[in-house]
Amino acid sequence: MATNNEHKLREIRQILGDLYEVKGLKEIGCNEDIPETCETLEGNALQKARYVNEHYGVDCFADDTGLEVDALEGAPGIYTARFGQMNGYGDSHDSDANIACLLDKLQDAESRRARFRTVIALIQNGEEHLFEGIVEGEILKERTGTDGFGYDPIFAPVEAGVSFAVMGPAEKNRISHRGRATQKLVAYLQNQD
Ligand code: IMP
Repeated sequence: MATNNEHKLREIRQILGDLYEVKGLKEIGCNEDIPETCETLEGNALQKARYVNEHYGVDCFADDTGLEVDALEGAPGIYTARFGQMNGYGDSHDSDANIACLLDKLQDAESRRARFRTVIALIQNGEEHLFEGIVEGEILKERTGTDGFGYDPIFAPVEAGVSFAVMGPAEKNRISHRGRATQKLVAYLQNQD
């Protein structure tokens, strides 16, 4: 998997169980920053998977995730990891800054509706495949829960009614954007033999 994010690797391994051995970038000796310069989640996921496939000669999958907030016309989208930084709230990938920024932007919003969308790009035997997972939800007015990462404390899926940070990892994986995209990837891989 084209990532160095230990949270994601753990989540994906939990979903796949013993079925596959998933290696992260460190384990294949890839320490460089992989370019991510496209305008869409699909483009960025493919760009990362192609990079690893071309430079390291292994089958690979990469994911890209965006939070799409209705009151912000779909923002932050591809800029989700950098949202706080882009608005003067702190560093890129700083979850506290991202959350503070989003809560401020939604202070007077009529709608708090949002969705997480994940796209996984798989390159296997030279063929490219895309898998999408979506979870609809609401941005809460304050943080709740301590599990998870990123925007988890303020994102509550419609079907749960509590934030991702309150749910255990198994329950989150079952309904999350990445969980759903991964379930499609796994179904595809299982149906191959
Ligand atoms: P990435 O494309 O997976 O790196 O995710 C982009 C941004 O979305 C990062 O700021 C992550 O923290 C955030 N993000 C991705 N998945 C989740 C999640 O499951 N919960 C909360 N935040 C997430």
